[in-house]
Amino acid sequence: MNSEQYRELTLIGAGLAGSLLAILLSQRGWKVTVYERRGDPRIKGYESGRSINLALAERGRHALRAAGVEDAVMAQAVMMRGRMIHGLDGSLQLQRYGRDDSEVIWSVHRADLNITLLRAAERAGATVHFHRRLHTVDFDAGYARLIDDRDDQPHDIRFRTLVGADGAGSALRAEMVRKADFDEYTEFLDHSYKELTIPPGPDGGFRIEPHALHIWPRGRYMCIALPNDERTFTVTLFLPNHGLPNHAAPGTDDPSFASVRSGAEVRALFARDFPDALPLIPDLEQDWEHHPPGLLGTLYLDRWHLDGRALLLGDAAHAMVPFHGQGMNCAFEDCVALAEAMDRHGVLEQAFAAFEAERKPNAAAIQAMALENYIEMRDRVDDPDFLLQRELERALQERHPQRFVPHYTMVTFMRIPYAVALERSEIQRQILVEATRGRRDLAGIDWPALARVVEERLPVLEEAR
Ligand SMILES: Cc1cc2nc3c(=O)[nH]c(=O)nc-3n(C[C@H](O)[C@H](O)[C@H](O)COP(=O)(O)OP(=O)(O)OC[C@H]3O[C@@H](n4cnc5c(N)ncnc54)[C@H](O)[C@@H]3O)c2cc1C
Repeated sequence: MNSEQYRELTLIGAGLAGSLLAILLSQRGWKVTVYERRGDPRIKGYESGRSINLALAERGRHALRAAGVEDAVMAQAVMMRGRMIHGLDGSLQLQRYGRDDSEVIWSVHRADLNITLLRAAERAGATVHFHRRLHTVDFDAGYARLIDDRDDQPHDIRFRTLVGADGAGSALRAEMVRKADFDEYTEFLDHSYKELTIPPGPDGGFRIEPHALHIWPRGRYMCIALPNDERTFTVTLFLPNHGLPNHAAPGTDDPSFASVRSGAEVRALFARDFPDALPLIPDLEQDWEHHPPGLLGTLYLDRWHLDGRALLLGDAAHAMVPFHGQGMNCAFEDCVALAEAMDRHGVLEQAFAAFEAERKPNAAAIQAMALENYIEMRDRVDDPDFLLQRELERALQERHPQRFVPHYTMVTFMRIPYAVALERSEIQRQILVEATRGRRDLAGIDWPALARVVEERLPVLEEAR
């Protein structure tokens, strides 16, 4: 099919990726119709029930810029300069993410962000239908059935091309798998999460440092907190689903969702492991008992499109665990890559194939890095080896700014392909581990020898400043 001829597309899901893609394609003259399972968040309030706020980084900002909505989003974002590590003894340590305030991440409210994007999509000419859940698809006849969950009534539509931005549990993906036997597998983490809230203080201000992503690392589990612009924090507690033996206290198990069930049990857990956070969360027991735990997983899918008739992107194609704060950033990057592939190729099947070829290896790379980052966040950020490696990383970055670019910088502040960031990060990690082995500080490092290793193993990265 020649896409120039029709320029008509049906999008499933008006979440983060769906609404951003609707803007980008409408701006290019495509007739975009979007079907969303939930009600209109501008009328009913937001019914997401998960991850109230998100870390926005350069990849996501670039996509918002391309859609002309960056300023509107940034007006409500809160800057996070680094990780604020909360020790068990109440100590605090800020680990900056970058060199200065040009290298920071931003906390954005999912509902506000989604509403900003939806408004812009409609302004750009997209039509959004709410209360329409994709149910089944007849790809050969070009018919899809949508259900209104309020009255269970079916609504049938005709389509030329479906693009699925319907999230990790994508109904379109299920239909594509059924039709074309795609190879699909979700690996669930044996950890889940629950969200809690730190309200504003008595003076209406933030109760803890607002310009940081707070982490309480505790080995096999952890808490994090991100600021919201209404002076609250969203706290996320990540725990194993089942307890494993606690090596520090033989005969006991680490806490888990299996062992911490009641409000009283979660209070006891916080009193023991997160004592400085406990007084900040007045509704701890209620939050715990009313919010269901969220599952975390990585989706592996071997194909993302069915010729020119259907395509998946965002979480629907490559859901990942949230520990690099990149799921949305990656989904936004997908939207720009797809719009550009559609600019380049007149035939949709070719555009979809080019998009898949470009994005699949990169999605796989960030999925792998997100899994690795969980171990780093919960178990390594307060570890002396890790801190020494970070110190050496900063020193090498200063000495070789175009070759030795820290892992976090490549993923978060740059837009080089994730696969390149992964490959270079692995080399750098080996260099850092080898150079710090057996050392307590950087005194005695053979800098000229290290410079030779860096020059040999890390080619210049043009994008680095
Ligand atoms: C705890 C947690 C923390 C996270 N933190 C970050 C972070 O800090 N930074 C970051 O970049 N990412 C983060 N993420 C990842 C991020 O939330 C996702 O990657 C992002 O939401 C993906 O966008 P999407 O549009 O693909 O899917 P979604 O945002 O899930 O949107 C899917 C949309 O499709 C709709 N839908 C679903 N099924 C149907 C259907 N059958 N028919 C019609 N519509 C349907 C849904 O209602 C929804 O509106 C986090 C995720 C979690 C779970």
